[in-house]
Amino acid sequence: MSEQLPEGVKRRAFDGTDRLATRGEPVYGEPTDGAWRAWNPHRSKLGAMLEVGMDTGLEGGETVLYLGAASGTTVSHVADFAGPTYAVEFAARPVRDLLETADSRERLFPLLKDARKPATYAHVVESDVDVIVQDVATRGQARVALENRQFLADDGRLLLAVKARSEDVTREPAAVFEDVREELAAGYEVLEAKRLEEYHTDHLGIVARPR
Ligand code: SAM
Repeated sequence: MSEQLPEGVKRRAFDGTDRLATRGEPVYGEPTDGAWRAWNPHRSKLGAMLEVGMDTGLEGGETVLYLGAASGTTVSHVADFAGPTYAVEFAARPVRDLLETADSRERLFPLLKDARKPATYAHVVESDVDVIVQDVATRGQARVALENRQFLADDGRLLLAVKARSEDVTREPAAVFEDVREELAAGYEVLEAKRLEEYHTDHLGIVARPR
């Protein structure tokens, strides 16, 4: 089966190595080739989910709510190929860099907000977003996904990266992932789940749709 990549994401050779790439201004010192910039899966859980062949359903052009944007490594790639991209991050420092990243990306909207308080950005984010990407690496990752489900269209997708150690450093990651999946079931149906081990230790990638 041929690889399903969103429109605007391509495989290109960078220094002889095949890499995913999007078109846009470079953000984190990644290699470029003309207008294309390499997408490093070691620095991006969504990049890793694409690399391990998960069916994200991304086609390009969709409206995205991105939770846990940090300084914009991954969300900059997303905004290169998606439509309006709302990037929520609650730490002021990375948001400064995120704002710079958004300078050259007119579809990227940084929001200095807490993803556990969706009411504080509900007036900005349009309802019925096509995709929620979540990478908050904090305790209560399932809860954050459930609290933000209200923004997702009925046929939308949640693309979630779960970091086991953020929930509980002492427990087996597999047990943590099981608990997160169980909690998620209150609002989502998991379509696919894959460990991202090759790129991110003790992380699980999840593709889900709202119930
Ligand atoms: N997704 C980023 C990327 O790939 O470029 C990396 C994100 S980093 C692993 C997790 C981020 O989530 C941190 O910047 C942290 O400040 C943010 N975060 C954690 N809890 C949050 C919350 N409740 N609301 C908003 N951001 C949060």
